[in-house]
Amino acid sequence: MTEAGSCECGSVAYSLTSDGPVHVYACHCLNCQTRSGSAFAEHAMVPASAFACEGTTTTYSRTANDIRFEEVFCDVCHTRLFNRNSALPDMIFLRAGTLAGSQKLEPIVHMWTRRKQHWISLPDGVPSFEESPTPEQFGAAVQQAQQRNSADR
Ligand SMILES: [Zn+2]
Ligand SMILES: [Zn+2]
Repeated sequence: MTEAGSCECGSVAYSLTSDGPVHVYACHCLNCQTRSGSAFAEHAMVPASAFACEGTTTTYSRTANDIRFEEVFCDVCHTRLFNRNSALPDMIFLRAGTLAGSQKLEPIVHMWTRRKQHWISLPDGVPSFEESPTPEQFGAAVQQAQQRNSADR
């Protein structure tokens, strides 16, 4: 299954090959609100080996707790396309709103709900966490989403 996406101006395009659907999560933390200039951030974790990006990008880097964080933008229109960090070098944190067909996405996890904007009501049956879930909790949510997907078929 190949998914693709691009920045707003189209100078940077990416594609990703993965075995199943792309799992998107929503982060309602204050950093995500500030960085996105929006109510929450929608990310998808994808293996770096399945991700290919073409076009000229600009990277904003910062270091916190000895982890280097990079945020990658289109050099022309400055759409933020993905993040990566030195703690999980094999993963790309895709900004899911840049995926083609992003209107069909549905987060499988909501995190940092204690910071979420009050007008947002979360759907029933989708795991949500007041702060960041543990990797085990996140893994369980992915499994739950996979089971839902296969039940729908
Ligand atoms: Zn662009
Ligand atoms: Zn966040």
